[in-house]
Amino acid sequence: MENAPTGKVLLIGNNPDAWNLVRDALTASNSGSFEVECVQLLSEGLERVGKRGIAAILLDLALPDSHGMETFDKLFSAAADIPILILADGINESLAMEAVGRGAQDYLLPSHLDSYSLSRALRNSIDRKSIEDALYVERERALVTLNSIGDAVLCTDISGRITYLNAVAETLTGWSREEATGRLLAEVFRIIDSDTGNTAKDPLKIAIVENRTVGLTENCILTQRDGSQTAIEDSAAPIHDRAGRIIGAVIVFRDVTAARSVSSQIAYRAQHDVLTDLPNRQLLNDRISQAISMAQRENRSLAVMFLDLDHFKHVNDSLGHAIGDLLLQSVSKRLVAAVRHSDTVSRQGGDEFVVLLAETTHPEDAATSAEKVLRALSAPHSIGEHELHISCSIGISIFQGDGESAETLIQNADLAMYHAKEEGRNRYMFFKPEMNMKAAERQHIEHGLRSALELREFELAYQPKVNLKTSEIDGVEALIRWRHPERGLILPVQFISVAEDCGLIVPIGRWVLGEACRQARAWQDAGLPALTISVNVSAAEFRDKGFIEGVARALSETGIEAGHLELELTERVMMRDVGRAADAFKELKSMGIRLAVDDFGTGYSSLSYLRQFPIDVLKIDRSFVRQIADGNKGSPIVNAIIAMGENLNYIVVAEGVETDEQKLYLQAHGCAMGQGFLFGRPVPAAQFAQWLKAGKYTENGALRVDCPI
Ligand code: C2E
Ligand code: MG
Ligand code: MG
Repeated sequence: MENAPTGKVLLIGNNPDAWNLVRDALTASNSGSFEVECVQLLSEGLERVGKRGIAAILLDLALPDSHGMETFDKLFSAAADIPILILADGINESLAMEAVGRGAQDYLLPSHLDSYSLSRALRNSIDRKSIEDALYVERERALVTLNSIGDAVLCTDISGRITYLNAVAETLTGWSREEATGRLLAEVFRIIDSDTGNTAKDPLKIAIVENRTVGLTENCILTQRDGSQTAIEDSAAPIHDRAGRIIGAVIVFRDVTAARSVSSQIAYRAQHDVLTDLPNRQLLNDRISQAISMAQRENRSLAVMFLDLDHFKHVNDSLGHAIGDLLLQSVSKRLVAAVRHSDTVSRQGGDEFVVLLAETTHPEDAATSAEKVLRALSAPHSIGEHELHISCSIGISIFQGDGESAETLIQNADLAMYHAKEEGRNRYMFFKPEMNMKAAERQHIEHGLRSALELREFELAYQPKVNLKTSEIDGVEALIRWRHPERGLILPVQFISVAEDCGLIVPIGRWVLGEACRQARAWQDAGLPALTISVNVSAAEFRDKGFIEGVARALSETGIEAGHLELELTERVMMRDVGRAADAFKELKSMGIRLAVDDFGTGYSSLSYLRQFPIDVLKIDRSFVRQIADGNKGSPIVNAIIAMGENLNYIVVAEGVETDEQKLYLQAHGCAMGQGFLFGRPVPAAQFAQWLKAGKYTENGALRVDCPI
C-alpha cells in the first residue's frame, strides 16, 4: 500500500451529490487519511484558506457567490501555495481545462470521484505542487545569485541565441535582458582581440563544439552597444540537459580595465629605464632578436650602435649627480630625435646607450646615423645655469657578419666602442674581428699577470731626465717591464691597462714603488749622486685606500728622502674626483714628496682645476714635442705650456725628445728639462749607474745605449 499523505482537503461547492461522493471516497479504508471540510461559498473558502492547514482544495467553479474562471482566479491568487483541483462535469470540462492552464493542478469528472482515483489525484497534486515550489525557490535563488555577483553572466541556447543576461552583463554589453533575448550572441557580445585588432575567437562556439569549458581569452575587448570599449576576461562553458546533451552555453566575463592598466604599467616599467623612459636592456634584446628574425627572413641587414659618453664622470663628480641625470635625459632626447622612428634607442645603464638601427641596408647607413648622433650630441646642453658640452664614442656591429644574436652584436659593438675611445673618443668605429682577438689577448695577459709578481717576472728600466741648461742628469724615471718566460719583454702599454681593469695594478704598483726606492737607495749607497726618482702612478692605484700609507712605508723602509721621490700622475687621475685628489696631493706634498703631471696637455684639464693641486712638475706629452720637426715653426702648445709653467712656477719637462732640433728648440724656449731617446733610452739599473757616473749628457753621446729595455 502506498504511503498516503495525510491532510485536510477543503471542498468548495454547493452540489450535495459531489459532497457525498467526495466524502464517501475519502472515508473509504484505502483512501489514506484525508479529512474533508466543506464550504458552499467562495467567500467561506477564501476565509478558510487564510487560516492555513489545508493540504488541497477541490473547487466547483459554479458557486452561489462566484462563477466560472473568476472563481478560480480569486482562489488561486489567495492560495497560490495550495494545490487546487477543479470539480467538473461534462458541460464545463473545457472551463476546467482552462483553469489547469492557469495554475490548477488537475480537474476531476464525477467518474473520477471514486476512492482510488480521488485520493491518487490528490496525492499527485500535493507532490507536484511541492516540487514546483521547490523548483521555484531554487530558480529564484539562482536568479538572485546571478544578479548579485560581480561577474557578468550570459546564457544562450544551442544555436547561440541569447536566453539570459544578468544585471552586470546588461551593464557591460549595454543591452537589456528583454532586448537581448533571442538575438544572436555576436550581435550583443562583440569582442575583439586587442593584440591583433581582429574579432576575438568566439568562446561559446568552442565550448559548444568541443563540449568543454573554455578558459580566459587574454587581452579581450568588449565593444558595448554604444561603441565604448571595455577590457574583459571571459570564459565559457556548455550547459547540458539531464541526458547530457548540450542545450546551450553560459559565458562569464568581467571588466578588467583597471587590472589590465595596472599590469600594463608594471610591464612598461619592467621594460623601461626610469630616468630616461627609454627601453631598457631587456626590451632592447627582444627588439634586436625580433629584428634579426625579420632580417633573416627578408635577407636584410641591421646595425647595433653602442654609445658611451666621453668623460661623463667629470660632470657627475664636479657638478653632482642631479646635473648628471639631467644631462643623461637631454642626451637621450637628442638620440631619439637623431634616429628614425623605427629605430630603438635604449639605455643600458650609467652613461651607456645602445641603438638598434633596424633598417640598415649598407654599413654606410649606420655610419651616417653615427655621424648624425655625434653631431646631435655636440651642441651644448643647457642644464640649469650650466652649458654643458659632451661627446660620445660609438661602436657599431652589423648583422650578419658581426654576430648572430642580440648578445653578440651588443658585445661586439661595445668592443668597437672601446676601440673608438682608445683612438681618442668623439668618434665611431665599426667592429672588426681583430678586436675580438685583442680582447682574447687581454684575457691572456690578465691570466699571466696574476702570477707575474710571484714569479718575479717584472723589472724596472730607468730613463734619465736631463737638465737642458747644464746637460746634467737631474732625475730618473722608473718604467716597468715584464719579462715573460715565453713572449720575452713586454712593454707597459700592453699590460698596464689590463692590470688597471682587473685591479692587479695595486700590488704591481706597490712593487714598483718599493723597487724604485730600493734602487735609488742602492745608488746612493754606492756613492753615486743623489737624484730624484720618478714613479708612475695610475688611477686605480691612486684611488686605493692604502696608497698614501704605502708610499710612506716605501720611504721609511728604504730610508730615501721624500724630496727624492717624485710621483707622476696624469691629468685624468686628478680630474676624476677633483676634491679627493686635491686632498691626497696635499697630503703627499706635506710629506715632502714631489708631484708631477704626466702626459700634460692630453687630458683637457683646465687651469683652474690644476691650480687646486700643489704641483711641482709638468711633463709635456711627447705628441706635442713631436710637432717640433724639420721645417716646422715649432709647436704653439709646447710654447704655451712652457710659458704657463714659468708663470706658475712649475718645472717643465719635455717628454720624448728624439732630435737635436727638438732639444735646441726647447732650450731656446726656456724648457727646464728633457727626457727622451736623444739623451738616453730606458735601461737596466746597472747601465744607468754607469751613466750616472758619467753624470752628463754630451753631444757626442756620453749616454751611450748599450742595452736599452
Ligand atoms: P710615460 O710615463 O709617459 O713614460 C714615458 C714613455 O715614453 C716610456 O714608455 C718611454 O720609454 C717612452 N719614451 C721615452 N723617451 C722616448 C722617446 O724619445 N721617443 C719615444 N717614442 N718614446 C719615448 P714605456 O716605458 O713604454 O711606458 C709607457 C707608459 O706606461 C708610461 O708613459 C707610463 O704611463 C706607463 N708606465 C710605465 N711604467 C709604469 C709603472 O711602473 N706603473 C704605471 N702605473 N705605469 C707605468
Ligand atoms: Mg711617466
Ligand atoms: Mg708621459
